[in-house]
Amino acid sequence: MAITDKIYIKNHRQLSSQLETNIPKGAFKGATLDILFQGQGLEKLDDATRERVLDFATDFLDCDCQDNPYCGCPERKFMKYLLELRAQGLGPEAIVDVMSDDYMVYAYTGDVLSFLDSGVRTLEAAEGLARVDGNPDAADEIRQAKRELSR
Ligand SMILES: [Zn+2]
Repeated sequence: MAITDKIYIKNHRQLSSQLETNIPKGAFKGATLDILFQGQGLEKLDDATRERVLDFATDFLDCDCQDNPYCGCPERKFMKYLLELRAQGLGPEAIVDVMSDDYMVYAYTGDVLSFLDSGVRTLEAAEGLARVDGNPDAADEIRQAKRELSR
């Protein structure tokens, strides 16, 4: 399972009651995205919640793909967001705090930790490939990213 399958809406029960419908707990579940962004969902939310939901939409759901939000971009962008927080030196717990503040979503720190670990392994494989392909610049760039991640 991808990390984005393990990102949950923080005030799930409260949000469901504001929306007067039961939405899935997973932030990236299709039904959640549908209700929040394609119906009258936004209007029913209180100001603070709506602001967070809109930020989430602006930052992760703003691509022009025809099958948005099911094109995979939202998940990719969210993973990039996590890696950027990591690159800023944040640990799993701080990353969960920041995502809660930013978007009212949360994850279990263990899941974030294993995502970051697998991120480093993915970069290691990419670095190896770039070297084999005779692309030392790309390999150096990847090694730099990896160093930031594993700090
Ligand atoms: Zn897209």
